[in-house]
Amino acid sequence: MWDLDAPEPELRRGEALVRPTVMGVCSMDVGVAGGLVPFSGVMGHEFVGVVERIADGGYKELVGARVVGSMSVACGACDMCRKGLSAHCRVRTVLGLSGRDGCFADRVCVPVRNLHVVPAGVSDEEGVFAELVGAALHTRHIFKVEGRPFVTVLGDGKLGLLVVQVMAKLNASVRLLGKHAGRLALCDRWGIKHRMVEEVGLRHDQDVVIDCTGTAQGLELAMQMVRPRGKIILKGPAWGTRAAGVQMCVGFGAVRAGVREGVDLSPLVAHEIELIGSRCGSVPEALGAIATKQIDVLPLISKRGKLAEGVEMLRLAGAGELKVVMAA
Ligand SMILES: [Zn+2]
Ligand SMILES: [Zn+2]
Repeated sequence: MWDLDAPEPELRRGEALVRPTVMGVCSMDVGVAGGLVPFSGVMGHEFVGVVERIADGGYKELVGARVVGSMSVACGACDMCRKGLSAHCRVRTVLGLSGRDGCFADRVCVPVRNLHVVPAGVSDEEGVFAELVGAALHTRHIFKVEGRPFVTVLGDGKLGLLVVQVMAKLNASVRLLGKHAGRLALCDRWGIKHRMVEEVGLRHDQDVVIDCTGTAQGLELAMQMVRPRGKIILKGPAWGTRAAGVQMCVGFGAVRAGVREGVDLSPLVAHEIELIGSRCGSVPEALGAIATKQIDVLPLISKRGKLAEGVEMLRLAGAGELKVVMAA
């Protein structure tokens, strides 16, 4: 549904009313629009906006501030939250994806604790990448770099292009493999090696393979590229057809995205490969990395539009645009 005349949302305790200025279209939104992610309500979770009001009059210094919101709203009380693993809160809601209206609207309600002030040197369009950059940065916390390992990032979508920039900062030999010459060419500006995936030999010689394709083929390739006792890191959601029995799922909260089906997992056993799932990271860390120019995000924007053209923008995002952003 696309309701541009929806009533102003009702603020609950601890929440701020935010007026989005720039919004990003994410593949999860495309999943919602396509019926692959079961959600009804206002879509969207990537935004930079201005705080208009705080529910109980607190946090006055935030009113008028330019903010991004982290998408997951945790309860703060369950066993996961008490362990400091609020990203895995048992009853979390997610902006525009699960149990909570999102940001593709004139106004959005976000808990104050989910808001992060955007540094002055970061533009609205850059800030919109905070969630994705956080997810990319999270990858470097997953394994310890020892002795200049060979790292392959698979997939030249948004996440692959961000993850490879993160990896390139480490003491590692890093390359990006993809299928789109134009996207791979972005690596030239960052001084990162890249190849078309079909040109690469499958030699079980990579220490770490980070699969950002979200596809069964990506995982199969990763298993053929990684060395015995190496690591495969699975990033990002993806949509699979579910005709045959589902072999493996990458969970995304309440929804089951990232279906990679019909994959023969025996190489994991034969080569004693470690398979690790990785999702979101820290929004403040992401804003810091963008502000200090460690990560270059603007070249990823392939289409700019307006919220009022949202239906068309979603269609374009689903039709292969690298990154679609919408102004209010
Ligand atoms: Zn997203
Ligand atoms: Zn919780």
